[in-house]
Amino acid sequence: MNTLAIVVPCYNEQEVLPETTKRLSDLLDRMIKANKVGSDSYILYINDGSKDNTWPMIEELHQSNTYVKGLKLSRNVGHQFALLAGLKHVTDNCDAAVSIDADLQDDIEVIQQMVDRYDNGDEIVYGARSSRDVDTFFTKHASYGFYNFMRSLGVDSVYNHADFRLMSNKVLNHFQEYKESNLYIRGIIPQIGYNSSIVEYPRAERFAGESKYPISKLISLAINGITSFSIKPLRIVFWLGIITLILSILAMFYALGSYFYGVRVAGWTSVIISVWFLGSVILLALGVIGEYIGKIYTESKDRPKYFVEKTLFDSLKSSEDKNKQ
Ligand code: UDP
Ligand code: MG
Repeated sequence: MNTLAIVVPCYNEQEVLPETTKRLSDLLDRMIKANKVGSDSYILYINDGSKDNTWPMIEELHQSNTYVKGLKLSRNVGHQFALLAGLKHVTDNCDAAVSIDADLQDDIEVIQQMVDRYDNGDEIVYGARSSRDVDTFFTKHASYGFYNFMRSLGVDSVYNHADFRLMSNKVLNHFQEYKESNLYIRGIIPQIGYNSSIVEYPRAERFAGESKYPISKLISLAINGITSFSIKPLRIVFWLGIITLILSILAMFYALGSYFYGVRVAGWTSVIISVWFLGSVILLALGVIGEYIGKIYTESKDRPKYFVEKTLFDSLKSSEDKNKQ
């Protein structure tokens, strides 16, 4: 491989950046020496509207370290869009790109294996955690439940894989053709196809600082993942409607029967229960449908997903610039 790009979205990562840069540069040094990757390989940090010292730090690192390039977004747009911005800028500026979080939770040595797989013909290499020991009981089980649910909806997703993966330039180019505003990158990549494989590694604790993914963001990522890739929830709502219709017809026969047998006042409990039950089923159904309508709404506006405020690279041409030429 000639050029390897390592793409790292950063949001308030001042505590980890120096160490991350040190370790990634050391890795690149070793890989260049071993002739695994070319000497023009680089690290691209995307500053996702950080409120701390992250951007000045990236600027400094860019001065002192030849591997480091930077991209500053005009505000915080979230991990998926920050990654999208990074991947867009490395497209056609590398042979393959590896995306990784800034916090060193993913084992960077795995990148060597990824590059080997690429050299053996894989276009996509997924990094997957071999264990979830560092997760809380809740996150662990919630994520297994989520993967299984996604599979049952027919969405191809890789177990225990977050956004740590290698993609060849060919795959990066195909990825650019996905224009959706409701972005769930790890669902899109398997749809692109080509030869792919998985490398496993134990995931460590965050090196320093706090998680930028509170549980609320995780849940909305999960909902986004499901509703962006499957319309089965709408069908489930339809079948729920059919089932409650059948149940209510049965209940109607029961009510009519009791009426003719003289039971006329009793039944308050069953009425109250069914009112609440049906009320919540209806609200749930409306919520699911609303989620999809909301998606249509945001997709139809087709707003810009991020703005690039500054770039720290001389040789990179963004695909936007190229399109204009
Ligand atoms: N991140 C980002 N924008 C955000 C939130 C997070 O670019 O709005 C980056 C963050 O800097 C990190 C990666 O996304 O590099 C994953 O975040 P984090 O490690 O906090 O998530 P966790 O590993 O706890 O799920
Ligand atoms: Mg993390």
